Amino acid sequence: MPPRRISDVNYMDVDSDSDVSIVDDDDFGGRNKKGKGKATDKKKKDKGKSKAKEQPYAWEASYTRSWDTVQEDEAGSLQTAVADLMARSRRRRLLAPSGAIRRTIIRHLILILDLSSSMLDRDMRPNRFDLTLEYAREFIVEWFDQNPLGQIGVVGMRSGLGERLGEMSGSPQDVLKSISERHKIEPAGEPSLQNAIEMARSSMSHLPTHSSRELLIIYGSLTTVDPGNIHETLASCIKDKIRVSIVSLAAEMKICREFSDKTGGQFGVAMNEGHYKDLLFELIPPPFLRSTTTTTSSSTKQTTSIPADLMLMGFPTRLPPTSAPALCVCHSALKSEGFLCPRCGAKVCDVPTDCDICGLMIVSSPHLARSYHHLFPVKGYIAVTTLQDSPPPSQNCHACARPFPPPITSTISEGMSPLSRYKCPDCNNDFCTECDVFVHEVVHCCPGCGK
Ligand SMILES: [Zn+2]
Ligand SMILES: [Zn+2]
Ligand SMILES: [Zn+2]
Ligand SMILES: [Zn+2]
Repeated sequence: MPPRRISDVNYMDVDSDSDVSIVDDDDFGGRNKKGKGKATDKKKKDKGKSKAKEQPYAWEASYTRSWDTVQEDEAGSLQTAVADLMARSRRRRLLAPSGAIRRTIIRHLILILDLSSSMLDRDMRPNRFDLTLEYAREFIVEWFDQNPLGQIGVVGMRSGLGERLGEMSGSPQDVLKSISERHKIEPAGEPSLQNAIEMARSSMSHLPTHSSRELLIIYGSLTTVDPGNIHETLASCIKDKIRVSIVSLAAEMKICREFSDKTGGQFGVAMNEGHYKDLLFELIPPPFLRSTTTTTSSSTKQTTSIPADLMLMGFPTRLPPTSAPALCVCHSALKSEGFLCPRCGAKVCDVPTDCDICGLMIVSSPHLARSYHHLFPVKGYIAVTTLQDSPPPSQNCHACARPFPPPITSTISEGMSPLSRYKCPDCNNDFCTECDVFVHEVVHCCPGCGK
């Protein structure tokens, strides 16, 4: 887009000039003679201008940043840098609470996307909008992988209105389809936080109490155009126990911070592309069950822990593709494949879902098992620093049976084992670096003790 590029260059010129003048005011304001100050001022101005021409976009600067973060070691290899990154995630795992935690595994999330004109800003590459769509797709796929019992709906904020882009659905394909047509969700106008939140709230009002109600707002603008008092919306979100998390692409806004603080969500301002993705992906694991509800000062709510609640679930019968075609209750379409509700025998297309006839929650048992690991996480392995003589240490990794590599002599960061051995605190078996990562991020079960 050549016209935009030119206008951006002009904009950058003005910007760099104003920066320089601020610096000059500080440097030469009182002490130096005016003439000298002016000469340097002009020189700096020219320098700023040429710099702006070389680098018209902020994102072009990030190309120089990317290789600053990965440093080669003395031998010119990148191995230590990679090991350091792995050690960082290991330290984070050890900080996380181990043992059984109560989490909401049946989740309902509404993704609210800012589709205002501020999303066309190019401070992220290629622009905020395209990057958001890309990350949203990755987020949805990963979210469903980790939360197979969850459902996602999509709402957009555009021209002062809230737009329902996708109904609440448990199928990743349906959710991805709602944001797949880029030309239909082209950014325009101003966003309205209140309209979008009210729209999301109304579509969550029917949900049962054992499921979580969450909003994730990706917000690029610094303003909101609201028809009423947004604090009333905040109060009703708190009342409905809706957790609002916000990822801002511009800067912190007081109302956004207030929404996430008071509803127990998370708030973050993305500093760059990588940080933006981190902020989003932090919201993928299911949230802790809030144990304290002592927000109201009156005597009504003073419970410290929510009592365990039994819930009804049905495991459906899967129909083979060769079965006789029948109408499904969800779309009234003639299909041979599908699932039968174990209570009323109605045919549904996809699980997990609530039966349209009897209201029973229908889940498949693999989905339930897959959500299980969030409740009982594998304990973090401890980095082994010295080898003890008794009992004699095993020569091979307990999981993959490969021999351990020779000890690393270069610099070791915290949480990293110089012997590349990581010990399970329960079964005391040693594992190699790769297996440690694989166990905690993919398998979610220790091969030594089965926990
Ligand atoms: Zn159907
Ligand atoms: Zn049923
Ligand atoms: Zn191994
Ligand atoms: Zn173990």
